[in-house]
Amino acid sequence: MTDNLLRDYLAFYRDLGVKTLNRCEPPEPPPAPTAAPEAETVVPVSVSAPPKPVLSPLPGLHPSDDTLAKIREDIGDCKRCRLGETRKKLVFGSGNEQARLVFVGEGPGADEDEQGLPFVGRAGQLLTQMIEGTAHKEGIPLSRPDVYICNVVKCRPPENRTPLPDEMEICGQFLYRQLMSIRPKAICALGSTAIKALLGTKEGVTRLRGNWQKWRDIPVMVTYHPSYLLRPYNQNAKKEAWEDLKKVLHYVYD
Ligand code: URA
Repeated sequence: MTDNLLRDYLAFYRDLGVKTLNRCEPPEPPPAPTAAPEAETVVPVSVSAPPKPVLSPLPGLHPSDDTLAKIREDIGDCKRCRLGETRKKLVFGSGNEQARLVFVGEGPGADEDEQGLPFVGRAGQLLTQMIEGTAHKEGIPLSRPDVYICNVVKCRPPENRTPLPDEMEICGQFLYRQLMSIRPKAICALGSTAIKALLGTKEGVTRLRGNWQKWRDIPVMVTYHPSYLLRPYNQNAKKEAWEDLKKVLHYVYD
């Protein structure tokens, strides 16, 4: 394994929030073969060089020819975590495969679970309105299908609970591949689960929003999750979310 690949693996696990790694000792080299000596004759024994230590093979993180179709195929009828047992439809993501802007939410809700598409319920309608309304006001010709929208976890958590750390970690490999494959100019993280998954921090939206963060080398704008904005007492947050979106849209499309 090259230094670069190893660095990539470590960055991948760090981005998923994994703080410790166990070191696997390389396997013992097999005993050198011993030939049974013929009577009185010394037979030269060829001792092959012990094998080089190998790191346990890991699956490719983001093959250079990765595509969204390939990632979807690899997810398959996923049962890697408990969410696979209760979901109706897996929600992979939707939008432009070459989008310059990707929105990352938390996980599917009831409507998304029914339809297999992200952000199609009430929060989704608000998100569409925010994207298209802001773009229109700012003179940017953009509609929802031009961006890509996905979630940290691809299956609905029961009762819309927050995804658990192991569910985020297991599903995180696919979010990672989606982002590496699209390589957008910027990412917009919607709410605290997306923040945790992308930035590995427990800092809240209020602290992080409005300023650029980074996921690997891609700028990330944090903003409120649209479900939060639907609550009637969060009108000020709505204004702030519009400001955040304006910033992202100008950065990406100007
Ligand atoms: N909330 C999310 O985080 N994602 C969706 O797809 C829908 C609602």
